[in-house]
Amino acid sequence: MSKILNEFLSSNLQELKDNGLYNEINVVRGANGPVIDIDGKELINLSSNNYLGLATDETLKQAAKDTIDSHGVGAGAVRTINGTLDVHVELEETLAEFKGTEAAVAFQSGFNCNMAAIQAVMNKEDAILSDELNHASIIDGCRLSRAKIIRVNHSDMDDLRQKAKEATESGQYKKVMYITDGVFSMDGDVAKLPEIVEIAKEFDLITYVDDAHGSGVMGKGAGTVKHFGLEKEVDIQMGTLSKAIGVVGGYIAGTKELADYLKVAARPFLFSTSLTPGDTKAINEAVKMLMASTELHDQLWENGDYLKKGLKSLGFNIGNSETPITPCIIGDEKTTQAFSKRLMEEGVYAKSIVFPTVPRGTGRVRNMPTAAHTKEMLDEALEIYEKVGKELNVIS
Ligand SMILES: *Cc1c(COP(=O)(O)O)cnc(C)c1O
Repeated sequence: MSKILNEFLSSNLQELKDNGLYNEINVVRGANGPVIDIDGKELINLSSNNYLGLATDETLKQAAKDTIDSHGVGAGAVRTINGTLDVHVELEETLAEFKGTEAAVAFQSGFNCNMAAIQAVMNKEDAILSDELNHASIIDGCRLSRAKIIRVNHSDMDDLRQKAKEATESGQYKKVMYITDGVFSMDGDVAKLPEIVEIAKEFDLITYVDDAHGSGVMGKGAGTVKHFGLEKEVDIQMGTLSKAIGVVGGYIAGTKELADYLKVAARPFLFSTSLTPGDTKAINEAVKMLMASTELHDQLWENGDYLKKGLKSLGFNIGNSETPITPCIIGDEKTTQAFSKRLMEEGVYAKSIVFPTVPRGTGRVRNMPTAAHTKEMLDEALEIYEKVGKELNVIS
């Protein structure tokens, strides 16, 4: 065993622990539903991305089981050899219909989509304008492409316009892309897509929207791009199948040519085994369910609004979320962590998020209500919030 590696690991672990940044992972016993069991204790779960409660849906479970029986547990190969099964093609057709695009390509995860698509389309002769609050997978995907990365102030359209102008007028780059989250997961705010599309037209930017937190949530379920009616304007839409859709995987939606190109150029498509058949079928059922009814979506928003109203009237600062994501901004890092810990002791699981994930002094406990929460659960969570808030002098 390498001594250098051992020293590297222990000193880094120690440093994280000394700075209170070492994350102890909680193990959930059983399903990740609206109430979870951690260490034998039942907690109201306000930290999952399972927005519509589909992770434990009976129809999806049955679809997965039946498909395991007919197709087996694994796809057996990468998509380009013989790992493209009928269920993958069916899912991609459903996804394109759902998103209102010509085509869609499914990947093994949302993270993989960003590894796949950015690198396939952009290269070292290009530039990418990237919102400063973009998700880690976007940042990594951009780096992998070797394009010049230009950070744009968060949702600052003047800054975007200025930097788009500079990048295009410099003549230095063959292509320029603007990439943004559709919904920003830390604050729940929404990208200003109508203005973004305007600016993109003016400077011929390629537009790429990562709608991991928007799919199933915005646009009656079809996402942020559909919410603004811009399906024909945004070049590349990325979505995850692991959050609102409740299973695992991701997809890129766009023109048929984009899909055709990704199938020959996107490295995770070429070199990593495709989604399992059972998951693929469950996802297809979930997407069809969202196209057939907005019931779960409506319940999600009702629950989100209920929780927000409750927290606000207790006197908490819930920021400016435009989605069900409900941050409860506490401020300093230590109090935020103590707050989350006390919530857990009292029966609410809501994770603290502090610097460096969010700016210093804006530590928060982030709440993700879902369609599966009952009013009783949300009321109980609010009571616990009130108790802990008063105890830690966050509210009076
Ligand atoms: C969660 C998330 C991803 C990754 O999706 P997975 O399917 O979990 O890999 C990518 N982008 C954003 C903005 C996300 O929130």
